[in-house]
Amino acid sequence: MQSVIIGTGPAGITAAETLRRLDPTGSVVALSAEPFAPYSPAAMADHFLNGRDTTLFWKGSDVAECLGLDERRGSTVTAVDTDNHEVVLDGGGRVAYEGLVLASGSRLHAPLEGADLPGVLDFKSLRTATELIQRVRRGEARSALIVGNGFIGIELSLLLADLEVDVTVIGRRSWIMPRVLDPVTSTFAEKALRARGVTLRLGVQADAFVGSPSVTGVRLADGQVLSADLVVAATGVKPHTEFLGGSGVVTDWGVHVDDQMRTSVPGVVAAGDVAEAADWLTGDRFVHAIFPNAVTQGPIAAANLLGADLAYEGAESMNSLKHLGVPIVAMGTIDSPDDILRWDSGDHLRSVYLREGTIVGAQLVGDIRAAGVYRSLMLRRADVARFGQRLVDPGFGIGEVVWDAMQPAGLGVFA
Ligand SMILES: Cc1cc2nc3c(=O)[nH]c(=O)nc-3n(C[C@H](O)[C@H](O)[C@H](O)COP(=O)(O)OP(=O)(O)OC[C@H]3O[C@@H](n4cnc5c(N)ncnc54)[C@H](O)[C@@H]3O)c2cc1C
Repeated sequence: MQSVIIGTGPAGITAAETLRRLDPTGSVVALSAEPFAPYSPAAMADHFLNGRDTTLFWKGSDVAECLGLDERRGSTVTAVDTDNHEVVLDGGGRVAYEGLVLASGSRLHAPLEGADLPGVLDFKSLRTATELIQRVRRGEARSALIVGNGFIGIELSLLLADLEVDVTVIGRRSWIMPRVLDPVTSTFAEKALRARGVTLRLGVQADAFVGSPSVTGVRLADGQVLSADLVVAATGVKPHTEFLGGSGVVTDWGVHVDDQMRTSVPGVVAAGDVAEAADWLTGDRFVHAIFPNAVTQGPIAAANLLGADLAYEGAESMNSLKHLGVPIVAMGTIDSPDDILRWDSGDHLRSVYLREGTIVGAQLVGDIRAAGVYRSLMLRRADVARFGQRLVDPGFGIGEVVWDAMQPAGLGVFA
């Protein structure tokens, strides 16, 4: 088959591997808007801090050559002509396909006045992140304002603090990473951030990026203007779907896919941050923009493009803060639990969110060794009501679950 992949991030490159493995003689064209070898954005902070390339170019810088891909860097897709089975490039060139993988990921979403002012930076792609870090390395930035206290804003604040930039994070909600962490877990992370020198201004509304001719600061809802050498938007991400207008591929927030990662157009599949797949828990379509979902969806989408019949079990939410110094893992959801069990020692925290006796989410701080046990019980929708408060005891772990499963009326976790 003649396959074309739009995007060589984690979803695109794992799709390419699968296409090559299942269709060794087919041609695979891999298009990327950026000038880099396939990379993992999750490793950018480590790369800039420690100079490590192996985790950034996680499949090897020569992966395209090794897989025999026709990799075309700096090729931005502007449209998909599904009638003629062609992808249209920014220079007007066209690339024909028999099967198409949409793996174009996500971009910064900054619905804020002044977000398009020259100098507003972001840490979403290697291109924009390189520009940002180069300004720090050139000594142009002693201070930084980051608008947004989600995952990317927090990860960047730690990197900039380590690079000795005086950094302030502005967040609308009164705790950090509000979509992922609950306020109790957040207090542990906030303490660690402050200890690292990050200033947090939470519960503060940023109204606009300001400056002329380029950005110099941020105006808050109370009229106050904060200024800094670097002004960064970390206000969220949005799937890259702009080039799909008129293609017939149904999109909403992201590209609609069924449980086989197929889009509404035959011969076109989607994977990763661009795909709005079913959530494993609710079944509702949602974009959980994280690495594990991208690298699971990529191979499934590619295999199904070649005629396989693989079902995707649903996207999950799973986050860990890598550079905080305090291990934190958050999985599942914190929305509408009927019960929350907690164990809090001051240094360590275990919180488990329950609905109808099953785990729908868990958050651990400090000792995170039991994360796999909670995840396994959650994904199996095991009835854990019998454990009661013991579920969050520091000693609760795999031994407890194994023992229970061996009882006549046990969980059946290992069945
Ligand atoms: C700073 C940061 C830290 C992160 N940390 C974590 C973490 O710790 N754990 C975790 O699970 N996840 C993390 N993530 C999220 C994770 O990186 C993403 O979920 C993952 O990269 C998604 O992979 P993807 O292939 O779908 O998209 P992307 O990695 O965004 O790749 C998309 C590709 O498509 C290309 N593209 C886009 N539009 C076009 C076009 N029109 N034409 C041609 N090419 C195009 C881009 O150039 C790029 O190559 C982090 C993300 C960031 C930014």
